[in-house]
Amino acid sequence: MLNSGLDEMSVMDAMTVLKPAGNQPARGEALPKPSLIGLTREEMGAALRDKGVPEKQIKMRVAQLWNWIYVRGVSDFDHMANISKDMRETLKTHFTIARPEIVEEQVSNDGTRKWLLRFPARGAGRPVEIEAVYIPEEGRGTLCISSQVGCTLTCSFCHTGTQRLVRNLTAEEILSQLLLARDRLGDFPDREAPQGTIMPAEGRKVSNIVMMGMGEPLYNFDAVKQALLIATDGDGLSLSKRRVTLSTSGVVPEIFRTGDEIGVMLAISLHAVRDDLRDILVPINKKYPLKDLIDACRAYPGLSNARRITFEYVMLKDVNDSLEDAKGLIKLLKGVPAKINLIPFNPWPGTNYQCSDWAQIEKFADFINSAGYASPIRTPRGRDILAACGQLKSESERMRKTERLAFEAMMIANHGSDD
Ligand code: SF4
Repeated sequence: MLNSGLDEMSVMDAMTVLKPAGNQPARGEALPKPSLIGLTREEMGAALRDKGVPEKQIKMRVAQLWNWIYVRGVSDFDHMANISKDMRETLKTHFTIARPEIVEEQVSNDGTRKWLLRFPARGAGRPVEIEAVYIPEEGRGTLCISSQVGCTLTCSFCHTGTQRLVRNLTAEEILSQLLLARDRLGDFPDREAPQGTIMPAEGRKVSNIVMMGMGEPLYNFDAVKQALLIATDGDGLSLSKRRVTLSTSGVVPEIFRTGDEIGVMLAISLHAVRDDLRDILVPINKKYPLKDLIDACRAYPGLSNARRITFEYVMLKDVNDSLEDAKGLIKLLKGVPAKINLIPFNPWPGTNYQCSDWAQIEKFADFINSAGYASPIRTPRGRDILAACGQLKSESERMRKTERLAFEAMMIANHGSDD
């Protein structure tokens, strides 16, 4: 779920580009060993059993590995001090816990960090590249995570929407974005952040995660669920579910499950309050129109004034920014505990949209505010951060057209039962 375009020059001007070295697999290497990252405890136990680890050791070994991987943040079996050398050799022979390759790390003047990450080939596929973005603020540090390489949806204001889907990310690849960010920020015990890193003054450096990077997370439900349940597991990474937000363009059949099975905060990429306009801006609306979407929001498990849904609304000049639209928004969300994030649009090459005038954005925000809804305007700094999203992945392999059509047909079949 990307919410903006780009202003590539301004972002690049503001950023320092670092190219980390070492510990990185070369292209064309043999297929990697299976990773233990992203497995449930049961799956990890089964993987160990399969390699001959005695049954009576399985539970203990899984607990040790879980602690080393998710609490201590190690990425090398040799650092697991309380595991015997023989056992470490067995693990090394059959598995990996390596991080993805950092192709590029960009650091903004305001402390925003963006990583272009390359994951090795899986099965018959080729390596793929995705982005993750870290946004430090006064009292929190937010990591924006991708769920797919590219996107099947074609939201007309979104640059990623112009890039075809390559494939879904695995639970390992989703979770690895968090592990890698914590590595780079020194956010594991006994680690230091690189000098000069801007981050929250106290507490965890990555305190929040948002599934708002590349892709529609609810089109990759199982892997996203598995990764988020591990990220919020109290014996591991231990993030509060209230600090994890999943953003969807409106895959209605999966919204209840998101609350019920994952239990994280929900954000909706709304952007329009009339079906005719939303059909254009967020074309999945043709399949799941506004009424169905808002009904699903009302039924979201755990919804309350303390657990509101965030509605994202990109401000497009003369498209969706009139006071009529603001009125329509209030009417649409009546009775839904909601917060509305207004996102000034940042144009990208080839787009026909323009950002609303600042005065109009403020008028729109004031109108919504006076109706009792929190409606923060994402600051230009936030725009810089999101403007950079989705721009560095062009080297990723694209699905062939036939594969993409088959994938989309499968998605429609999976989500069509409630039509
Ligand atoms: S669903 Fe896809 S096209 Fe739509 S905003 Fe998200 S990344 Fe962009």
